[in-house]
Amino acid sequence: MENYIDVAIIGGGASGLCTALSLKQKNINISVAVFEQLQRVGKKLITTGNGRCNITNKNLSLKRYHSENPEFFKFALNKYSNCFAENFFNGLGVLFKSEEDKVYPYSLQASSVVDALRFGIDRMGVKLYLETEITDTIKKNGNYIICSNDKKYFAKTVVIATGLLSGGKKLGSSGSMLKILKNKGYSVIPTTPSIVQIKTDNSVTKSLKGIKVEADATLVFNDKKLKTESGEVLFCDYGLSGPPILQLSREVSRKNGKFYILLDLMPEYSFDDLVALLNDRTKALSDSCLEEFFTGMLNKRVGQQLIKFIGKPLKDNTQTLSQKDIKALAFLIKNLRFEVLGTTGFENSQVTAGGLDTEGFEDKTMMSKKDKGLFAVGEVLDVDGDCGGFNLQWAWSSAFCASDAIIKYLGV
Ligand SMILES: Cc1cc2nc3c(=O)[nH]c(=O)nc-3n(C[C@H](O)[C@H](O)[C@H](O)COP(=O)(O)OP(=O)(O)OC[C@H]3O[C@@H](n4cnc5c(N)ncnc54)[C@H](O)[C@@H]3O)c2cc1C
Repeated sequence: MENYIDVAIIGGGASGLCTALSLKQKNINISVAVFEQLQRVGKKLITTGNGRCNITNKNLSLKRYHSENPEFFKFALNKYSNCFAENFFNGLGVLFKSEEDKVYPYSLQASSVVDALRFGIDRMGVKLYLETEITDTIKKNGNYIICSNDKKYFAKTVVIATGLLSGGKKLGSSGSMLKILKNKGYSVIPTTPSIVQIKTDNSVTKSLKGIKVEADATLVFNDKKLKTESGEVLFCDYGLSGPPILQLSREVSRKNGKFYILLDLMPEYSFDDLVALLNDRTKALSDSCLEEFFTGMLNKRVGQQLIKFIGKPLKDNTQTLSQKDIKALAFLIKNLRFEVLGTTGFENSQVTAGGLDTEGFEDKTMMSKKDKGLFAVGEVLDVDGDCGGFNLQWAWSSAFCASDAIIKYLGV
């Protein structure tokens, strides 16, 4: 009967599609259905990596993953690693190229990854129900009733692959399934946006909007330095963005207290080196005004902002800088400080921290400990990674792990 399925997968995103295909590759005869609430599958996947899809990372360090239960993700990521994922996608015709450790499809098109998965599930006979939002899963006599608004389906096993809140509703991120499972007694770790821009006191960032600087960015929490990331920082009207800022953003919403960000605009130089350098500069540029003092050293507008910070008129001559001014400028270059006000939220974030408490799931199978036959994969679980392909790799690894376990569970 059409409505009777071996495996019902809720969510046609990265982890759901990968689970479906991986199951069919192991056993073409099992019936697998994917239920996707949107008009198309892989809508988020198509936006990843700025449309290029940073599909995995060659340096799959477990340190790049976060969870309240850090033991949970080890098994799946070790067994079904980036090489395993690359082999799987090679089998679908996807070739790869790397930029440093980040791995992309050779086409540099996220759409080609979605197509490869889409064509794959089509070829293998996976049943696809589009525009079908699943509103409940009810366990009955060891099987599951999968409820949409107007229909019921019956499945031996169910896979929750619904993702969480990042990227907003247009990408299918509503978090509705998390609420449904919470109401069924599943423990949930609070969800917060991660890999997201940081809102700061914007009096300075607004005037520097659009300027990028290479810097070391340090996140400070209650006067303790938590983490430093290096790279291109972008000044925005709401605060700060750029790869190092996105990497620092996770903790901002997860701890209560005072956060600020310190930018070191010249990390290769010590404070004393800078004082000496600036003193030499006052001599070499003795005919110039302060407006030009940092020309050739820092971004022009950033340099002028530093002069304003120490309260000197830009038209004054460089000779007017006192030793105190020189030290103040050197300090600012090493410690440009921005008070953190929050993040730009789930809509702009790439991943959601928190989710289904993994204590309720088996790490070697992704199966619920209390509801046998119910599996969860991808972002809906309380596992999130850093920027750089780590989140998609978690979607792949958890999907491969669950699909192996489902085959064993079904005994087929
Ligand atoms: C802008 C952006 C860029 C990113 N870039 C990268 C990158 O380059 N590299 C990287 O590693 N990670 C990246 N990520 C993160 C990565 O996309 C996610 O971690 C990954 O897609 C999670 O996969 P998933 O299958 O768990 O969830 P999703 O891919 O979000 O898929 C979940 C699917 O379930 C559907 N769904 C939800 N609820 C229901 C329901 N009740 N019934 C039916 N269907 C439902 C949704 O519509 C959605 O299609 C990016 C994220 C964003 C937002």
